[in-house]
Amino acid sequence: MSNSYIVFDIGGMRFRSGVVDDEGRLSNLVTFDSPTHPDEIVEHITRIVESNALVALDPIVGIAIGGMVQTNGKVIAGRMNMFDFPLAERLQLPYPLAMLNEAQAAALAEAKYHPRLAGNANFVLMTVSAGIGGGVIIDGALYGGQRGIAGEVGHMIIDRGQNAYCRLGHRGCLDALASGRALSNRLQKLWREGHWTHYAQGVTLRDLPGLLVAGDGMAQQLIKETGGWIGTGVMNIIRVIDPCEIIFKGYLMTELWDYIHPYIADVLDGYKRRIPLSLCSLGENVGLIGAGIAAQELRMAAAHG
Ligand SMILES: [Zn+2]
Repeated sequence: MSNSYIVFDIGGMRFRSGVVDDEGRLSNLVTFDSPTHPDEIVEHITRIVESNALVALDPIVGIAIGGMVQTNGKVIAGRMNMFDFPLAERLQLPYPLAMLNEAQAAALAEAKYHPRLAGNANFVLMTVSAGIGGGVIIDGALYGGQRGIAGEVGHMIIDRGQNAYCRLGHRGCLDALASGRALSNRLQKLWREGHWTHYAQGVTLRDLPGLLVAGDGMAQQLIKETGGWIGTGVMNIIRVIDPCEIIFKGYLMTELWDYIHPYIADVLDGYKRRIPLSLCSLGENVGLIGAGIAAQELRMAAAHG
């Protein structure tokens, strides 16, 4: 009989949970907008684990979360106002817990199930949502680094000349320039300055696809700049890792792919180092599947330890 795992994918925009088995099959899916307070995250996880404990026999919990997750279960800088937050300790779950960054979880899932890249490929997965994160796969395995926080591509410094800061205070890092949060701030600023006055309540990221479809020049310029910065980040990754492909996920990529990926490709072409760029093959539940793989690895490690 297949084992099952109670899994979570907690991003800056959406909170997802479900039960997944050894073959990556999902059930009991629940999804809602991410709460903004760490205490609420703790409450939701605790409640959902309790309600799924009977479905998953002898369960292990897997949590993929937006933010830097240390191997000791501490979230150094999470999306939901988690700074040095001891999430594993606060949860006090009665079951074993595997926890990792959500982009790393997605990378793990693609490394196992991607139609072309599963096996022993070298690739990097980049998520561009409210924040920007990454997961590095070397020879088919997740590269965690010294403390488990490798692959933080969002905090690569791209342009220190820009007056933009991420939530960690870095000037001109990729997250400060090209994340959903950065783009959203720029949209709001432009609206306050008198653009898009037909939007009475202000302009958000959700309005961006519509503006682009309508051929709005200002929106196109924003996407061109954002794509250029992401392209510079991807170029840096290519120089260091020499991956065969870059896989993207996250709202900005899935919703705006046709508009933004040509600008990323342009940067690579400029350096004559074009490699395939693609969207995540497993869809929106990729983080849950990855959290399940991390939980499965924990079970196997325990069995052999
Ligand atoms: Zn940063």
